[in-house]
Amino acid sequence: MLRNDMLEQWDRENFFHPSTHLAEFARGNAPQRVIQTGKGSHITDRDGNTMLDAFAGLYCVNVGYGRPEITDAIAEQARELAYYHAYVGHGTEAAITLSKMILDRAPDHMSKVYFGLSGSDANETNVKLVWYYNNILGRPEKKKIISRWRGYHGSGLVTGSLTGLELFHKKFDLPLSQVLHTEAPYFFRRSDTSMDEAAFVAHCVAELEAMIEREGADTIAAFIGEPILGTGGIVPPPAGYWAAIQKVLTKHDILLIADEVVTGFGRLGSMFGSEHYGLKPDLMTIAKGLTSAYAPLSGSIVSDRMWKVLEQGTDENGPIGHGWTYSAHPIGAAAGVANLKLLDDLDLISNAGTVGTYLNAAMADAIGAHPHVGEVRGEGLLMAVEFVKDRDSRTFFDASEKVGARVAAALLEHGVIARAMPQGDILGFAPPFCLTREEADEIVQKTAAAVGSVLG
Ligand code: PLP
Repeated sequence: MLRNDMLEQWDRENFFHPSTHLAEFARGNAPQRVIQTGKGSHITDRDGNTMLDAFAGLYCVNVGYGRPEITDAIAEQARELAYYHAYVGHGTEAAITLSKMILDRAPDHMSKVYFGLSGSDANETNVKLVWYYNNILGRPEKKKIISRWRGYHGSGLVTGSLTGLELFHKKFDLPLSQVLHTEAPYFFRRSDTSMDEAAFVAHCVAELEAMIEREGADTIAAFIGEPILGTGGIVPPPAGYWAAIQKVLTKHDILLIADEVVTGFGRLGSMFGSEHYGLKPDLMTIAKGLTSAYAPLSGSIVSDRMWKVLEQGTDENGPIGHGWTYSAHPIGAAAGVANLKLLDDLDLISNAGTVGTYLNAAMADAIGAHPHVGEVRGEGLLMAVEFVKDRDSRTFFDASEKVGARVAAALLEHGVIARAMPQGDILGFAPPFCLTREEADEIVQKTAAAVGSVLG
């Protein structure tokens, strides 16, 4: 086995890490951690430190680490057939079975699933399908996509454009011109604090209506949103938001893409966020929880309404010009089948709901009244704590104080991993669904200690 110091040197010399301060890392001034093993809700690094992973990797290891049911299925698939493509009607038992399992769980009006590898490429597929759909319907001008500020939909060219976070645009010449951003449904950060929830929803709707009016409904193809804002701050929508937004979309014949990369397969305690908040999407994006990240796999679930037009398109134009070498990769598909079975067999989605409710309440009890905690919010096993400089005036800390990152670092010292969300002083929690109440208590106690050590 390689020595740790050698691994660390090779890492700094050769490895281009995503979402990392490249210069600081290369100089040796940014943290480095080599992870070796995982079991349940815990991971262990090469130095032998074991940590409770209260963010499940990147909110993706939903069934927890070290599940032999999935690793055995992967090994078996690799031995039998590690790869064959899915072009021109080819498939494998694993990919065909998984598509049926997904459609059995998806809302009734969904029809087919296209497989990719990441949430980003699935959203890239979605945008192409939306454009194709409107071309087939003879509406070549209806192409713009509306996303929300603070939405997260990936970091490719079009998906990085859909993402409504400055860091993902700055110096990359994004967003592309076909993408527009509207108000985030972020009640806690509303600019006019005199608005109640209903008034804020009306404001979000008015902003959307004004954008559609300004651009012309005949130029707007689709609206994309996460049922609950994720990377932008883990923010459940205000009551009535989705019903009101969908009314506007229907009126203007604008498609809805529900990005379920985080919420799909149980994180909110329901199978999908769409079911949880009453969305009726035309396309659904799935990734992370589809395989619990045991292998890369994503999907675009297509509704009946869109599917009919895609079929018409191929009757008129020949086979659809879209596909990846690794679409429906058998190893990813085998991992997906085993993962969805495990969710059912261990009743993990219902555990996410009950332990999630417990964790949210315990966190609010422990630190909700702290003078620098502005809000404890969440749904199921997706939760955030937002820090403020002053509760009464709801003023925020200056970003240069890095309060969120400092609390996350203090919490890590106690052996718990939470995520300092990229915009704002927001500490995010999204543990594996197998989390126990005792582990939830540990997260809460250690978070309270970390908040105390940084903020008094
Ligand atoms: N959509 C949402 C809601 C996400 O949270 C993410 C990643 O965090 C993505 C899309 C992009 O997925 P990936 O990182 O697999 O490309």
